[in-house]
Amino acid sequence: AVEEEADAEEDLQPRAPIVTVMGHVDHGKTSLLDYIRKANVIAGEAGGITQHIGAYNVKLEDGRHITFLDTPGHEAFTAMRARGAKVTDVVIVIVAADDNVMPQTKEALNHAMAAGVPIVFAINKIDKPNANPDKIKEELAQMNFLVEEWGGKYQSQDISAKKGTGVKELLEKVLLEAEMLDLKANPNRKATGSIIESSLDKGRGYVATVLVSNGTLHVGDIVLAGKYYGKIKAMFNERNQRMKEAGPSEPVLILGLNGAPAAGDTFHVFDTDQEAREIANKREQLQREQGLRTQKM
Ligand code: GDP
Repeated sequence: AVEEEADAEEDLQPRAPIVTVMGHVDHGKTSLLDYIRKANVIAGEAGGITQHIGAYNVKLEDGRHITFLDTPGHEAFTAMRARGAKVTDVVIVIVAADDNVMPQTKEALNHAMAAGVPIVFAINKIDKPNANPDKIKEELAQMNFLVEEWGGKYQSQDISAKKGTGVKELLEKVLLEAEMLDLKANPNRKATGSIIESSLDKGRGYVATVLVSNGTLHVGDIVLAGKYYGKIKAMFNERNQRMKEAGPSEPVLILGLNGAPAAGDTFHVFDTDQEAREIANKREQLQREQGLRTQKM
């Protein structure tokens, strides 16, 4: 691992919470993420998010920001956790009010609990005539997830991801939960963070979406992620705007790596190409040796 020096308290500044939406299939993860992306609950640039890069940042009317991981489902979260990356500050667990707490709901709760990440419940599809949010809260209570309105510690919001009902209130609750975490980072240092997704783009070569967890990433920085490295040629945000830099909690698509690191790999910035290459080569070699060993077994 690459050693990092700790930040002094006075260098730290507040950063936006990073939020993941999890829940059972068809309970409304995609609809919620789509609504938030497009909705007028977001100040300015509504509907301006033009490309899917795996994460997006929204600004609320009061000026506060939230970063959403735009990869519904549990795979990304699990892959990242398996690599030790803690990329999520708050998890929204979405449950359809016309259904029940389902296996993937329970799985989401288990993941969030294991990672020690606070949970906010979104009880979805309340526009449906057969919606029964109280039944969901009852089921959650039986699993020891007692919601706040019933005297428990879990915030919960009835929503319709389709119509947008309650979404603004849900985001308020997410921010309230995040406030208690006192999230901070030091923008004035070399960037570190995680890979959200990566691929080989026909026109642009290898592209990777990274989420900066600390420091500020700049065009021209030499980045190492997993066993790949390179100098950042260009960066774009989810609005397809060219960026010169990205600070804490900001997701950006970077161009210039010599391969596609895995989701959940951490990245670091180096002073020289040579340093990054040496570590990349060591990692490559280590992986080859491990591969040979497992083949012999
Ligand atoms: P995911 O599998 O969790 O991502 O769920 P989707 O967002 O794809 O939603 C599954 C289905 O439920 C889709 O047909 C949505 O249109 C529908 N749906 C999602 N949210 C709502 C809602 O609030 N109300 C209603 N009536 N339907 C919804």
